[in-house]
Amino acid sequence: MAEQEGSDLQVLLHTLQSSSDKDSILAILQVLGDLLSVGTDRRIHYMINKGGSEALLQTLVDTARAASPDYDILLPLFRLLAKIGLRDKKFGQKALELEALDVTLILARKNLSHSHNLLHCLWALRVFASSVTTGAMLGINGAMELLFKVISPYTRKRTQTIRAATEVLAALLKSKSNCRRAVNRGYVSSLLRLHQDWHRHDMANTYLLIRRELLLCLRHIVTLRSGREAFLAAQGLETLFSIAQNHLDNKSMEPVISAVFQILRQCYPESPLPLVTTSSAYTFPASGNINLAPPYALTEEYFEDDGDEEVDKDSDLEDVKDDDDLETDVNKLCSKPGLDRAEEELMQYEAVCPELSYSFEELDPKYGDDLNFEDTQHANHELIPSAAFPRQRQHCFNPDQSSWGKEREDTVHTSILSMVKTGKATVQRSSKTRPGMNAYQSGKQNGLGTDSFGNDTLDIQTFLEEDAWDIETISCPRINASFPNSTKPKETNDIVEKLLHTHPKHIPFHDPGLYMANARRTRSAVGFKAMAFPDFWGHCPPSTPQPMLDRKCGIQRIKILEDVRRLLQPSDVINKVVFSLDEPWPMQDTDSNCLTFCSKFESGNLRKAIQVREFEYDLLLNADVNSSQHQQWFYFKVSGMKAAVPYRFNIINCEKVNSQFNYGMQPTLYSVKEALLGRPAWIRTGSEICYYKNHYHQNSATTGGASGKCYYTLTFAVTFPHNEDACYLAYHYPYTFSTLMTHLDILEKCINPRQVYFRQDVLCQTLGGNPCPLVTITAMPESNSTNHLEQLRHRPYQMITARVHPGESNASWVMKGTLEFLVSSDPVAKLLRENFVFKIIPMLNPDGVINGNHRCSLSGEDLNRQWLFPQAHLQPTIYHAKGLLHYLSSIGRGPTVFCDFHGHSQKKNVFLYGCSMKETLWQAGCTVGGSALLEDVSYRMLPKILDKLAPAFTMNSCSFLVEKSRASTARVVVWREMGVFRSYTMESSYCGCNQGPYQGLQFGTSELEEMGAMFCLGLLILELKSVNCSRQFLAHAATLLNAEKDVLDHHLQRCSSSSSCSRSTSEVDDEPSCMEEIEYSAESSSDPEQSFSELDRQIQECAFNKEEEEEEEEGRVRRRSVP
Ligand SMILES: [Zn+2]
Repeated sequence: MAEQEGSDLQVLLHTLQSSSDKDSILAILQVLGDLLSVGTDRRIHYMINKGGSEALLQTLVDTARAASPDYDILLPLFRLLAKIGLRDKKFGQKALELEALDVTLILARKNLSHSHNLLHCLWALRVFASSVTTGAMLGINGAMELLFKVISPYTRKRTQTIRAATEVLAALLKSKSNCRRAVNRGYVSSLLRLHQDWHRHDMANTYLLIRRELLLCLRHIVTLRSGREAFLAAQGLETLFSIAQNHLDNKSMEPVISAVFQILRQCYPESPLPLVTTSSAYTFPASGNINLAPPYALTEEYFEDDGDEEVDKDSDLEDVKDDDDLETDVNKLCSKPGLDRAEEELMQYEAVCPELSYSFEELDPKYGDDLNFEDTQHANHELIPSAAFPRQRQHCFNPDQSSWGKEREDTVHTSILSMVKTGKATVQRSSKTRPGMNAYQSGKQNGLGTDSFGNDTLDIQTFLEEDAWDIETISCPRINASFPNSTKPKETNDIVEKLLHTHPKHIPFHDPGLYMANARRTRSAVGFKAMAFPDFWGHCPPSTPQPMLDRKCGIQRIKILEDVRRLLQPSDVINKVVFSLDEPWPMQDTDSNCLTFCSKFESGNLRKAIQVREFEYDLLLNADVNSSQHQQWFYFKVSGMKAAVPYRFNIINCEKVNSQFNYGMQPTLYSVKEALLGRPAWIRTGSEICYYKNHYHQNSATTGGASGKCYYTLTFAVTFPHNEDACYLAYHYPYTFSTLMTHLDILEKCINPRQVYFRQDVLCQTLGGNPCPLVTITAMPESNSTNHLEQLRHRPYQMITARVHPGESNASWVMKGTLEFLVSSDPVAKLLRENFVFKIIPMLNPDGVINGNHRCSLSGEDLNRQWLFPQAHLQPTIYHAKGLLHYLSSIGRGPTVFCDFHGHSQKKNVFLYGCSMKETLWQAGCTVGGSALLEDVSYRMLPKILDKLAPAFTMNSCSFLVEKSRASTARVVVWREMGVFRSYTMESSYCGCNQGPYQGLQFGTSELEEMGAMFCLGLLILELKSVNCSRQFLAHAATLLNAEKDVLDHHLQRCSSSSSCSRSTSEVDDEPSCMEEIEYSAESSSDPEQSFSELDRQIQECAFNKEEEEEEEEGRVRRRSVP
């Protein structure tokens, strides 16, 4: 039947082209019009497939070329053409080939004074111009000059025609050659004048759409450098700035205002970053080749004024899939590459696995309680890079330290099972801080007399006042003991000593004295001499999680206007450098009215601060050491502030194209005064936060001529809690290398050595000369009987790593939760220790963390792209982490699960990435062939279990696709080379959750730590569900789980039944597009292709009102609402 219809249609179209009889042509047009007036677009596409476009265009050409063209035929023909043409991607090309452009232009010229006919011609031109190449051709043939004859200053007549003409002009200006022509003919100032005229007279906003189209014309033109120059010369910036400023809150003017902002942003003159060089202020003389940043790809902008090639966006480019990156080579997916080093080398790792050979003689009653593990250091240490084991510690359970053990008990007083799925924070959700209420304000309700632990803080308060302590002096405690040529440090040390007496000592797993001792040993590339107070003093998370920040409507526009105002009204702009790593110090007069900045401490990375206005600062972050990029992480100190005044900070050299700062995330702040008053906590803070592309570009001088790399601004306002305080601001809760070392020390001291086997080894030395710790946790054997030792030696391994990316401090907090849980007295932890050996590398990139890098190591390399061929002298931590894994595999003890903890800056929640050959091939659309692809699907089990257990975790964002670009990551290499099919990356959001019990809340450190503990519980349940699960383990677990039956039972059931459910990995919950455009170039803008229905509607309307009087238009348009 469809065939029959098809042939009927073809007959009709054929008759249309061949007939010269007016009546039959009109009849056919009538039939076609009726046919298309009902039904969906599918009909139109059907007609296009059957040659409808060609037939209509041919008829147009034939009719138009007659001695006196017949408008009875032409008008319905144009209406049909417009309707079909919009949906035919090749329409422009077809019109060009059939010479329909010329005849339409001629008809339009003839009808300049006959607006009804002219309107029809304009519709056709509008459709032709939707192809950029055809648009360029129309431009050559004088279409723009013609349109300028139609577009007049403000009038109430012929407005429909004028509007159609502005639409055609805007469409033509998508072509760069037309833009150039427009600039050369002075159309920029004409368009500005026209827009001004309409804007002034159209008080009732009746002709917003004409005004908008005029602006869209300008927006296209200013994508050219010459266009921007013409625009600036014509005072365009001033004109549009004043419109934006006066009508910012006028909702009804939205279509105009959004176009104004796009133009303002595009025309803000580009400038290089205010830095001498974008290369990091810190360098490190790495052995071997230093990985300098690759030359930047030249962007389109660089070429913009060259050549005339038009890129036709209607082509099939959009069919290119994102799946291009998927690994579809089955051989690469299946084959297991050979060992990347000599086999003998693996033996060195025996030394860090003494649990496999140690005889635990001290467990023999005759040795009594004298626990000494010194003998374990027996193997050939020489093979491990030099200076290994300086931190090798003996297991000692000092009774004096038992207080730590007590505190630890406090922190894990409830079993993890009772926290499943509900999360720690849910209990407190009802008391969640009211939006807009400063966390400090809520803290204040505690009263100054008591701290958050309910202890008396009057002492400290008095202490502070009596001694008139200089907050500056104490906020950056010096690390070094001796300071030649200075008396101040001595005082500082005294103050630190005094301070330590006031320390509340209630921060679990923290000890300032121990921290200072560790910080002294930490080696930075530049030799930091001070500690940041928060790391030294400690952080105690607020009791309630903080909600995400509601984005204030239009906030980005307000900020952009303030940026533009710097150019146009420079009277209040100070532009004074107040801090810089590159310029001589000090650079500020002491009495000046500005903030003091500092970042020369572990993980700090502010490079420069420029005071812009009294309470506004532009900040620049330091690039990763030996690199000129990766600015995202920040950590710096600011002091000398006034309380209750919002300070605006703009970090102007961010690089990511979008950020969670646009979706409710706030930076973190730590106040020294608050800490001394008993509230030592990092809290989320800041208002008026947004993240958008700015006008800074890579300076071509620093890149050898290449230009084009652009930057983004993160802006936020902070109201500090106290006058003359010292505060620290950071991208996320800092967790330094010295913090880790302190944490490990305390963990080691607080374990019960009769139950917990806890061992700290040095995996290797980093390039910067710091030890990379390797932690081993398992249960002590009950005795040194053969049975017990054999049980220990046969426990399967689990391997967990973290913080290969130094800016991902969230990964360290998750790791902290994992470590604390594994050594805890929780019955689940006990069972885990008795059945597994945990090998943990808590910080794979210590140097990066220490030196304030975001992504790289000291050699400027992303270490998580080095797992394929790591080299001992360039990427030692990766080389030896991989070596340890190789060693374990070589003795048949490869880990059951490998997981590398990371942080994610674009998504919310916590989720896993894994590896699946089948899912990858399936996603790429490859036919999966043969039995080669029998894949164990149990890689999905752990994420499914975590989805049920952990409040922050969601299966929805998990993915198991193997991408070519990730071939050298830990996850993929461990999966392929060691055959660990449960090899994962665990990503935790920097922001918070949009699902589950924590929905709408930002992560605090407690939620991240809880995730680390839940991960361990997940490993236990995974083991329970595995086929190899021993009867003894099952029995133990059953007793344990029975005790918590109500909590766990249904989870386990749901876990097992859900193995049949298979959610597509592609349905990831990416953020919805931002309310305000982060980018603004004409190419990337969300130019609403509303034209389909809009043009249809215009045509429809016109067809039914053929006899309309022009004067009626105004009333009609007024009824029309802005789309
Ligand atoms: Zn990462």
